[in-house]
Amino acid sequence: MATKKKTTAAPKKAAAPKKAAAPEKKVEQAPADEAKAKVKSAAQAAESKTDKIKGKGVIAGVAVGRILLAGQNLDSFLVNYKAGTVEEEKKKAADALVKVAEALQNNIKKFNDQGLKEQAGILEAHRMMVEDPAMSGAIDEKLEASGSAPKAVLDAYESQAQVFEAMEDEYFRGRAVDMRDVGKRIAKYLLGIKEPEIVGKVIVAGTEIEPSVIAGLPTDKIAGVILGAGSTTAHAVIIAKTRAIPTVVGVGEGIKKMADGDPAILDGETGEILIRPNDEERAFYDEKIKKQEELKAYYATLKTLPAKTQDGQEVILAANIGSPNDVDAANGFGAHGVGLFRSEFVFMGKSDVPKEEDQFKEYKAAVEKCNGNLCVIRTMDIGGDKPLPYIQVDKEENPFLGYRAIRISLQRKDLFMPQLKAILRAGVFGKAAIMFPMVINVKEFLDAKQFVEDAKMELAHEGKDFAQDVQVGIMVETPAAATMAPVLAKYVDFFSIGTNDLVQYTLAVDRGNAQISYLYNHFNPAVLRLIKRTIESANAEGKWAGMCGEMASDPNAAILLMAMGIKELSMSAPSIPRVKERIRNFTFTRAKEILAEVMEMEDGDKIKEYLTNLK
Ligand code: PEP
Ligand code: MG
Repeated sequence: MATKKKTTAAPKKAAAPKKAAAPEKKVEQAPADEAKAKVKSAAQAAESKTDKIKGKGVIAGVAVGRILLAGQNLDSFLVNYKAGTVEEEKKKAADALVKVAEALQNNIKKFNDQGLKEQAGILEAHRMMVEDPAMSGAIDEKLEASGSAPKAVLDAYESQAQVFEAMEDEYFRGRAVDMRDVGKRIAKYLLGIKEPEIVGKVIVAGTEIEPSVIAGLPTDKIAGVILGAGSTTAHAVIIAKTRAIPTVVGVGEGIKKMADGDPAILDGETGEILIRPNDEERAFYDEKIKKQEELKAYYATLKTLPAKTQDGQEVILAANIGSPNDVDAANGFGAHGVGLFRSEFVFMGKSDVPKEEDQFKEYKAAVEKCNGNLCVIRTMDIGGDKPLPYIQVDKEENPFLGYRAIRISLQRKDLFMPQLKAILRAGVFGKAAIMFPMVINVKEFLDAKQFVEDAKMELAHEGKDFAQDVQVGIMVETPAAATMAPVLAKYVDFFSIGTNDLVQYTLAVDRGNAQISYLYNHFNPAVLRLIKRTIESANAEGKWAGMCGEMASDPNAAILLMAMGIKELSMSAPSIPRVKERIRNFTFTRAKEILAEVMEMEDGDKIKEYLTNLK
């Protein structure tokens, strides 16, 4: 195949819509500078060379497509914009807010009709950011200074984005992108810029990727995602994860080596990216894709089969979700219900506490979609490092050990009661469970449980339907809870082990610190002992123990955990087939032998290596 060097056209020149074509052999030029590029193309083809970039593979799979750069530079448009009087500009901005909200609403409906729930959900959050009355006030204020409606819109949303960016929690920092995205969408409307036309499959790439770029594209058009930033909880990555779109993050300056329309290959497992690959490289990856398709077809055959070992030991494989829409994708991977609904997502992107009624709708939708399987809803895990505008938390030295999660809920009846009532009411429509995060002692659990009883009393008094038999359990994600598991097990209905935090608290290793990530190992013997103790304590009291931390999606861990007596593993849905395959190819007897050996070992890295090399 004839490949070429990067076109001389300015990759981010925004005037002409960019085309991204199917990965055929013929390479399309970016329309701008097309004639110039044609003259040079023969010489370029001769000296063609692949650009290789390496990032961190976060969602496995090989993707082939044309690069679509997210993040359009509006500077030249802003310079050429002819502003009217301040009053005229205010009117233009107000009209733009209405028009953009309408356009979003149309797209939300379109996506809902097509069953593309994640996309619809994200655009819904964006619509709320457009309609937020605080933002129109902020735009008017900025207009007094700049005199230009599009500039004022960009400034207002930028200021709000910076508020998000200053937060310590990676997830909330990621929401800054949404804010900028919305601002840009409105500014583009004011500047008369049309969205690019997409032809064929694309690999969306950007230092930061605006969620609307992904949310605005049909899933079958997105082959892969490349993120310059290292965030694994960016909205773009979250959508990619629920849709199993191969993704590489953390490529940094590598983004600069790509231009719109460049043919590219991405390997979401190794983190390798090839820009303008040659024939030989294409052939290598074609082979990989063939194997990937075979594996996908094989995984599809597992969808309705139980996660059962060859000698009959079964475990429930459930999904972690952040919104009811995620359950649809999870069901597609054969999930049996939801083991963790991170309800704090329901509280985000809003200017005020969501009302009981609004929460009820969200929880009910999730419960119903679980089709009779259990839906475990975790009460909000916010505060400290995850501040919300409507929850006052003083600056803390150490937010991970601060005022957060159940500690806030127990002090804020005004937040806790509506949430509990909403979950209890949702329980009427299927099987719901309530789970408290960050519990460290029996008293916290009993106090929280008392709130559940009070919530039931209030609902009865108000004459609202609710489920009496909702299970009430806790996350075991602190060493205190794991140590006290034999006692806590007497009170709770279930445990769900949150290894993301349990590992960081047990080993004193920040879960987000790349410099010490070599120490962050769920097979560390200290962690394994706490997990084993937790599971055995639950079983001894006739309760069930599950796991909803990332460890649950590790097929090798699944073997050990089953041998310890775990009953449920909850994970991001695309991991389900891999874990199920491992379980179905194992025997419980062998798993117990392996567990016995592992519990004798002293070093976490050796345990990991031993399990990786197991046949
Ligand atoms: C965990 O700590 O393992 C967990 C699932 O909770 P989160 O990742 O939301 O802290
Ligand atoms: Mg946690």
